[in-house]
Amino acid sequence: MHGKPCGVEIDVLLIEGNPRYARRVQLLLSEARGAMEVRGGLFAVTHVTRLEHALELLAEKNAFGVVLLDLQLPDSEGVRTLSRIRDRADSVPVIVLTGIDDDGLALAVIQQGAQDWLAMDDLDGRLFVRTIRHAIERKRTEVELLRHAREVEAARARIEQQAAELRARAEQLDKANRELDDFTYIASHDLKEPLRGISAYCEILREDYDDKLDADGRRRLESLAVMCDRLCHLIDDLLTYCRVGRVPSPDARVDLNEVTTELLGTLRAAIDQRGASVEVVGQLPVVRGEATLLGMVLANLISNGLKYNKNPRPCVEIGVLADDPRTVYVRDNGIGIPKKHHEVIFTIFRRLHGRKEYEGTGAGLTIVRKIVESCGGRVWLESEPDRGATFFFHLPSPRKSSPTRQPTKPPHWISRAVASPVGKSS
Ligand code: ADP
Repeated sequence: MHGKPCGVEIDVLLIEGNPRYARRVQLLLSEARGAMEVRGGLFAVTHVTRLEHALELLAEKNAFGVVLLDLQLPDSEGVRTLSRIRDRADSVPVIVLTGIDDDGLALAVIQQGAQDWLAMDDLDGRLFVRTIRHAIERKRTEVELLRHAREVEAARARIEQQAAELRARAEQLDKANRELDDFTYIASHDLKEPLRGISAYCEILREDYDDKLDADGRRRLESLAVMCDRLCHLIDDLLTYCRVGRVPSPDARVDLNEVTTELLGTLRAAIDQRGASVEVVGQLPVVRGEATLLGMVLANLISNGLKYNKNPRPCVEIGVLADDPRTVYVRDNGIGIPKKHHEVIFTIFRRLHGRKEYEGTGAGLTIVRKIVESCGGRVWLESEPDRGATFFFHLPSPRKSSPTRQPTKPPHWISRAVASPVGKSS
């Protein structure tokens, strides 16, 4: 009963209560041997008549290639027989053998997970062998698919977990950044108080003690006043930088045409005085952000374009990319920036020039990047020395729910950056 000829490819577990059918199956499979040998197909049949015995064998040896199952066994009947086999050995294909040609039963056994069914009475050898082979292939594919599905599910679960960890880390980082902004803001704010006092004393000394000071004393007092002024600008920029981080997520609908018109109106006198030109080419986009902050971005980029410029006629052009109308560029004909400095200029208080050459604090571009990124966008540049600089920023489209915001008058805290950026170049 358990004989296993050498070269056997498929172990068949035949669970058949009817001895006549069992003999027939064995005969058909051994007759098929001749034909199948050509393709290396041989069957070793293990025959049992009772379900319990079959379940024991399946538990012992889970290596059967296929189960041929009669549903009418002495110890089990009907579709339940099939489900008990499936519970024990889910990865083995099952072909149900029935004595009757019953379509309803056929459907039920397929729905219960059998690979196929065969009516014993009209069984022929070739059809039988082909059905077994197809059942094995179908089951193999099904098991493979299931394995893949489990792997995909496991990968999805891993990715979800990693995403959750990343979200948690981003939140922690965000919180730490906010705390740092708060701390810097408070520290800067508190520093301004004594600084105002020192400036006031400088003023008093200049006015009331001028005749008591010699030239050296006056010069030193003047240096002190200049240093106070500079420190005041640095603190103002630090405060501006922190305030950007304190603005709740900016998601208004902002028309950059309106923002630019408002801004250029404010800057017009200073631009003219400098003998410069600032042109808007075409239509600027409507974006998601915050009008006042985006005004600051443009103000900083325009003022830099005019400031870092030795051209007798400084020119700044504002427009959008032909192939991406939501990417805005601000192009100048100034001194340009070597490639190796393209990243470092976005670091706070990092400057490429001394103050004697170009006035400034080195905070402008850091603020620009912080604003653009807080609006969900990004900023970058293209430039070479002596060939001008082009700064680009890309912002997301407004959401349907985004409220429309008109550009407002720049508030007091950005007045230095927005209201007189060109003045920075003095
Ligand atoms: P600030 O102008 O106050 O120094 P920014 O952060 O705006 O600070 O700029 C950082 C540095 O980047 C500047 O010191 C300057 O060297 C360089 N830079 C910025 N914009 C331009 C520009 N349009 N052309 C050439 N250099 C620029």
